[in-house]
Amino acid sequence: MSMEVIILGSGSPLPHPDRAGPATLVRIGDLDFLFDCGRGVLMRAMSVGATAPKLTGQFITHLHSDHTTDFNDVITTRWIMSPIPNPLQVYGPVGTARFTEATLAALEQDIGYRIAHHDDLTSPPAVNVRECSLGTIVDLDGIRISCAPTDHSPVHPTIGFRIEYQDKAVAIAGDTIPCDGLDEICRGADVYVQTVIRSDIIGKARGQRMRDVIDYHSDVRQAGETASRCGVGSLVLNHCVPPPLPGREDEWAADARAVFDGEVLVSHDLMSIKPA
Ligand SMILES: [Zn+2]
Ligand SMILES: [Zn+2]
Repeated sequence: MSMEVIILGSGSPLPHPDRAGPATLVRIGDLDFLFDCGRGVLMRAMSVGATAPKLTGQFITHLHSDHTTDFNDVITTRWIMSPIPNPLQVYGPVGTARFTEATLAALEQDIGYRIAHHDDLTSPPAVNVRECSLGTIVDLDGIRISCAPTDHSPVHPTIGFRIEYQDKAVAIAGDTIPCDGLDEICRGADVYVQTVIRSDIIGKARGQRMRDVIDYHSDVRQAGETASRCGVGSLVLNHCVPPPLPGREDEWAADARAVFDGEVLVSHDLMSIKPA
């Protein structure tokens, strides 16, 4: 068994014809771990044979809508596609339990319709939530998943995840500026997936609302600095804002390469990375 990281959605809050919303699959053998569940996640997941009923866990970095848009779809699809009760295990920051209750409340009518229609569907979707902030949250078949707090202020709390299997480690950072918790999940990681923005482009945007996003995301150079400081192998620039123009991805990587000697990849939907 080896570990594979698949970028299901490389997009951001900005709708894009070729980029689904933020979601990353970590596949180890036949176990699928899903990190965030943005716009179109289950469509992209099907492309690699991952389905909602088969997910071992749903992990959420933070409760910004772009990272959770399709949480309701994961819950509903797992529920209706599973022949027997199949609780979804969710891990996320404090607030995830309340968010889950609210999502289930929003689905109340649909749940009622389906239970009324299908004789073999007698109970609503089961979702188990574990809220977490620091330390090991999964220890299963030699797979260890831990989390640490990140800094996406004023969005609070937010967490990043580290997945370890055999001698490989992957860090899924989510939206954050450089901070101690981010360094903790990234230390010596083979692959580090980081949400990034181009502050040089966004800084010139006309609208203040666009310029606002600079102060709570890592820009490409900061991601490179984190990668360098933590001695990671490959840096994956993800959730790029604004989306890179086709053929111009190298311009994005250049800012990180200026401060980081390792591999720099600019993500696209369904990009697969195998920790080397
Ligand atoms: Zn965010
Ligand atoms: Zn985001």
